[in-house]
Amino acid sequence: KTTIGILGGGQLGRMLTLAGTAMGYRFVTLDPATDSPCGQVAHQIEAAYDDEAAALELARQCDVITYEFENVDAGVAGLLERESYVPQGSALLYTTQHRLREKRAIEAAGVRVAPYREITSKDTMQSAVSELGVPCVLKTVTGGYDGKGQRVIRDASQAASAYDELAATGAELVLEQFIKFECEISVVVARSTNGEIKTFPPAENIHVNNILHASIIPARVATNIQIEAQKLAAAVAESLQAVGLLAVELFVAADGRLYVNELAPRPHNSGHYTMEACATSQFEQHIRAICGLPLGDTTLLSPVVMVNVLGEHLEGIIARTGQPDIEAMELGVIPKLHIYGKADAKTGRKMGHVNLLCQNVEEALQWIEQTNIWRNTNS
Ligand code: ATP
Ligand code: MG
Ligand code: MG
Repeated sequence: KTTIGILGGGQLGRMLTLAGTAMGYRFVTLDPATDSPCGQVAHQIEAAYDDEAAALELARQCDVITYEFENVDAGVAGLLERESYVPQGSALLYTTQHRLREKRAIEAAGVRVAPYREITSKDTMQSAVSELGVPCVLKTVTGGYDGKGQRVIRDASQAASAYDELAATGAELVLEQFIKFECEISVVVARSTNGEIKTFPPAENIHVNNILHASIIPARVATNIQIEAQKLAAAVAESLQAVGLLAVELFVAADGRLYVNELAPRPHNSGHYTMEACATSQFEQHIRAICGLPLGDTTLLSPVVMVNVLGEHLEGIIARTGQPDIEAMELGVIPKLHIYGKADAKTGRKMGHVNLLCQNVEEALQWIEQTNIWRNTNS
């Protein structure tokens, strides 16, 4: 019997547990929240993420340990590695927790990132802005998500105030050239403990207010660009000697060049489409990768659009799925709803997602429009 421990009890842990339970594994999650999304389907140790006694208990109960977020406390990561088996290792976390280390690692794999400068003072900021040009974007190197900890600089006169605001957080900073992308795509790649690598088809990602709104698969970019993106993702995973899933976010520039934006060493929101649309889901693949099983087939079985259900969308989508969806049937769209079991449906909070299986992604996008549920967020 193998018991898998998950540091973090959010929706990613929940979906890992649901997939892995079907494969015969048992799950224990460590999370401070009572009745966490993962705790509803796994055994839960209710404690802070940096609680070393709780981490030891997780190690004692589990044969294999993984995590569902990248800001794992370094002390706890080291402790778990010593006391249990963490196939992903802490080096991958160390790299992907820090934008500068991450960019250097991507470059070391021979893959392009947006030109960037490390910012250590107001002086380096001024010279970096003139070297990289505007627009550019200043980011904290640690802790950012959903666009938090970022300031876009459209005019050199905004550089000083952007620096002051982000320097006040105490975090190290990085300035990036702003890539005028045609679209954003992402590739989820898996590398197993045996070194086997498989990539999922690229997703085209639409963000609203810096939060992922929808993923469109197949991505509406040329086939050769999709193949290139999968090659780059595999090269980064190999170079990093990653184990488990690695999500690679990329910009597609007008000239077809690809730039890696950032990495996430875990299941990714833009990979949720795999749950019904691929022969193997990203969650099953992650478990296969960390448990040393052969990786599953990643073939896309159907075009699909994944749309996120935020707090403000929850009531609407639940009402809609309570009756026959005539429009969906007419459009030939099959909506598959996933709800994460979070109690408070706050605005902007990820409560679930819908995978829209379809003949043609345009029809799924039309369904999203027609429902009116995402009216205020449609881009
Ligand atoms: P996530 O929730 O994906 O972890 P994050 O806070 O880590 O988000 P990024 O992914 O770095 O932030 O940036 C958020 C979004 O801002 C990107 O998806 C992209 O739309 C835009 N963006 C960030 N950096 C750049 C850049 N250098 N050039 C162009 N657009 C950018
Ligand atoms: Mg990020
Ligand atoms: Mg991102």
